[in-house]
Amino acid sequence: MSKTIYPNQTIGILGGGQLGKMLGQSAQKMGYRVGMYDEGKTACGFGVSHYTQVGSFNDQEKVMDFARSVDVLTYEFENINGEILTKLNDSTYLPQNTDFLLTTQNRLNEKKWLGENGIPCAAYMAVNTREDLIAALEKTGYPAILKRTRFGYDGKGQFKINNSSDLENLAELSKILEAECVLEAFYPFEYETSVVVARDVFGTVACFPPVVNQHVAGILFTSVTSSTIPEAVQNKMIAIAEKIAHSSELIGVCGIEFFVSGDGEVVVNELAPRPHNTGHYTIEGTNVSQFDQHILAITGRPIIPVRLLTPTLMVNILGQHIAEIPELIKHFPEAIIHLYDKGEPRHQRKMGHFILMDEAVEKLERLVESDSLLKRWRDAIKMEEN
Ligand code: ATP
Ligand code: MG
Repeated sequence: MSKTIYPNQTIGILGGGQLGKMLGQSAQKMGYRVGMYDEGKTACGFGVSHYTQVGSFNDQEKVMDFARSVDVLTYEFENINGEILTKLNDSTYLPQNTDFLLTTQNRLNEKKWLGENGIPCAAYMAVNTREDLIAALEKTGYPAILKRTRFGYDGKGQFKINNSSDLENLAELSKILEAECVLEAFYPFEYETSVVVARDVFGTVACFPPVVNQHVAGILFTSVTSSTIPEAVQNKMIAIAEKIAHSSELIGVCGIEFFVSGDGEVVVNELAPRPHNTGHYTIEGTNVSQFDQHILAITGRPIIPVRLLTPTLMVNILGQHIAEIPELIKHFPEAIIHLYDKGEPRHQRKMGHFILMDEAVEKLERLVESDSLLKRWRDAIKMEEN
């Protein structure tokens, strides 16, 4: 049974990272009270919350205690354990439900779910041991990527196997194989894209415009609303996104990452049942942001039809880029800079992002190709790859 949550009522957010923070900012803008739960006292989202609670995500009592204090519960932290989630779902209002979250917590379950719904992804095999891996490589061929089924982000817990000599890297392989894994055939994509889709309690679905993404060392660097995705490819992505939203009975937003081949084949890389890094551009670039849309959906209000206001480029700011913020301000005086207030600017850690908007998307695409500051920043991420 869905409910409407009205301004002045309280939205509880599990997780106080940048996604929790931007969700909290949207909720507050709309007049909601925000409670936030995180493991760390200095979680960046705490700065925009009416009240906070610090505790482990595995501490059932504390999480339940927090959940009882709110009118509706949502999450930016996807890895809450299944048992606690089920309890939460029984005793509090969690409009997003638990099934889809539990499916997407595990890459293998996610791929099975996609298959059951007729949605293509790269060839894969479950792998638990070195023997499994060798057998699986016969099916996928080289190159292939070994990934842990759980807890991955920014390419962590992954190992690319280019040829049989990479199997000699025993230390790295056995570390990854300590947990359940999946081997994925390397998909020879021409480019990577993503779509954030929203669905409300009335069953209305709205997709944000697709973006083209550039990853460096497994970390998202740039997203640009693109002029180059052929309409047929965009239509395939939108159709897949709508299918995912309906089949999962999504309430809120979900990020969907795609690989696109040279001849326009579209396969899903992975799903994230929450706001997505490649959707940050929607704060400035569209009439309603992914965070606003999520808050509308979970409070039982109708989502808003989405319009692109102007072509937009988003660039992630990692720890190693922070010292160059003064340079960024000089180089792109028109940039809208978001900094998350995450404390120590550790290497490869997402600290913020910036936004550039221009009527001519080709100009933004050219910046991605050849701007000197972006080139330097990209090289500062690449160093990790070697
Ligand atoms: P995040 O949660 O930050 O998106 P993640 O750790 O879940 O990252 P993936 O999305 O699985 O990582 O992979 C990160 C990047 O590595 C992809 O965006 C893509 O560039 C590359 N990659 C991953 N899997 C494949 C594949 N099967 N074929 C080709 N490239 C891949
Ligand atoms: Mg990814």
